[in-house]
Amino acid sequence: MKSLWNSKHARAAVQHYGNGGVPADLALRVYSTRLLGSEPKLVLHGGGNTSLKTTVNDMVGDEWRVLCVKGSGWDMATIEPPGLPAVKLSPLVKARAFTALSDEDMVKLQRANLIDPTSPNPSVETLLHAFLPHVFIDHTHSTAILSIVDQPNGQELCREIFGDSMGIVPYVMPGFELAKIAAKIYESDPAVEGLILDKHGIFTFAETAEESYDRMIRHVSTAETRIARGRKRVFATAKLPAKRPALAEVAPILRGAVAEDLGAGKFTRFVLEHRSGGQVDAFVNGKKVADYGTRGVSTPDLVIRTKQKPLITIAPALGPLESFRNDTRSRVANYVADYEEYFRRCDALDKVERTMLDCMPRVAFVPGCGLFGIGRSAKDAMVAADIAEICIEAVIGAERIGRFEPLPEEELFKLEYWSLEQAKLKSVEYKPLSGQIAVITGGAGTIGAAAANLFANAGAHVAVLDIDRNAARATADFAGNCSIGLSCDVTRPDSVKSAFKEIIEIFGGLDILISNAGAAWQGEIGSLDDEILRKSFELNFFAHQTVAQAAVRTMLVQGTGGTLLFNTSKQAVNPGRDFGAYGLPKAATLFLSRQYALEYGKHGIRSNAVNADRIRSGLLTDSVVRQRSKARGLSEEDYLAGNLLGLEVMAAHVGRAFLDQALAERTTGNVVTVDGGNIDAALR
Ligand code: ZN
Repeated sequence: MKSLWNSKHARAAVQHYGNGGVPADLALRVYSTRLLGSEPKLVLHGGGNTSLKTTVNDMVGDEWRVLCVKGSGWDMATIEPPGLPAVKLSPLVKARAFTALSDEDMVKLQRANLIDPTSPNPSVETLLHAFLPHVFIDHTHSTAILSIVDQPNGQELCREIFGDSMGIVPYVMPGFELAKIAAKIYESDPAVEGLILDKHGIFTFAETAEESYDRMIRHVSTAETRIARGRKRVFATAKLPAKRPALAEVAPILRGAVAEDLGAGKFTRFVLEHRSGGQVDAFVNGKKVADYGTRGVSTPDLVIRTKQKPLITIAPALGPLESFRNDTRSRVANYVADYEEYFRRCDALDKVERTMLDCMPRVAFVPGCGLFGIGRSAKDAMVAADIAEICIEAVIGAERIGRFEPLPEEELFKLEYWSLEQAKLKSVEYKPLSGQIAVITGGAGTIGAAAANLFANAGAHVAVLDIDRNAARATADFAGNCSIGLSCDVTRPDSVKSAFKEIIEIFGGLDILISNAGAAWQGEIGSLDDEILRKSFELNFFAHQTVAQAAVRTMLVQGTGGTLLFNTSKQAVNPGRDFGAYGLPKAATLFLSRQYALEYGKHGIRSNAVNADRIRSGLLTDSVVRQRSKARGLSEEDYLAGNLLGLEVMAAHVGRAFLDQALAERTTGNVVTVDGGNIDAALR
């Protein structure tokens, strides 16, 4: 591993933070923490921490010796000085005299001694940093180190590789007890440059940031060199089907299979993140993946993100995927039963009260296709996939020099059901559409953008489709929640097909379609050019059918129901003079909505429509508003508010109606009017 230390950058960091009043030692602590955090082979999604011992003044000017240690919630790659909260050192050191200290009391002790009470919680490894005397301490879950310690003879191997330069600490779960043992091992030979923690990771320390960092890189490099001397090829490849289905065919099958059926048509849905190529393929396609792929995770805290085992499916072959679908569903059922059994087995080992987590896998291996991270959100799925990839690297390294043997399940269980993690569960609240994927056509228009926002706020990941790619992307960025923007011409079936394919490749499937794209053409019906009417039918009717068909196809594969929503406009029920070209296809689309409601209700797919009217910049361009208000002798405002309530209807009101329909679990074949009241357009 290459050292990224750069004296010029280090000096620049001291200067930069110094301008904000941050002392040089803390600036360097931030600088080298970022170096460690930016290397996934050292630190990934919270797996690691650093500290500094220094002196600070509190609000009233009293001086304290403190430990600045990584706070939870901060990413080491982008950490700033407030991400290393200062904790008074002396009370932490005093705690070493205790014979035992619960995790809850440990957190209390750390929080009670923060210089700034609004700081985040100091790391759970804070006491380990406090009990060692060094000014700078670095801790990582280096992949190469894990390949060495995750062996049946890990400790022996460490002794052979690192000699006396490192202390070797047997596995103990992070917390008070580990801190005490690690300090004792250090004190038995204070000449060591760091500590290797069996089945867990590595600490290095020194009096300067640079030396501590250098020691980390040097010892990790030693481990890498040892692995490089091992076998080159570790996994024999299984025989796979010569022709394999596309990712977009496989993903919805998996996504549907891992959705948790809560009964009465309700599901807990997950988002997928796919990875393939290189090491992932070699691992997932291996003949013995069911063995080495299920032995456990490389360092215990990963279990919180990936569970102790992945789901492994059969390799799907090109052609009808019914048997792959059935097999995957039965494997998920077995996975759930196994997980429940694992929980019962490990929970029975002590008297601690625990709440069982959901039993669905967080990682799936699909031979011939790759791996999938599975999460309640796109971000969680991404984290699970990142961790699965780094775990694969650790397993491969371990198998090159011996046999991958991580912690046994009862130790992983303790981490997965750690009281501090269980406490977090109580505060987790999921939004109503969390885990769901919504697609909006005409998504960059005012109504589309308003709906995109509302659906993202309700927890959905939104795919904004629009003929204008840049406008679609800007709308998605604004909506947030990992939404995406894609270009799509809904009147071209090939364009729809490729947009839906991309959505499925990114999120794994879809649950909600808001078929919103449309445009108004005018002309007296008796003399209307056929071309105009046909053009309007393409966009205002056939395009709705094209996207609805594409959505329903994926929904049926997932088998978890779904929601279709159509923007039909008041023209569908109440013709406007010279608006036949618009109203006729919209009337057909209203009927289309009901046809889907009729034929797909038995699959849990609901279909509803929204009749909106007089939305400025919706389908009414500014010039039409001007022209019509003038014709009626009204101001633009009075024209737009010309309804029973006398209030202008905004795009957000229409977006809200779509969201309400999406949340109305027992409503299908329905039409909602959003027009401020128009008795002529009332449904009868
Ligand atoms: Zn650790």
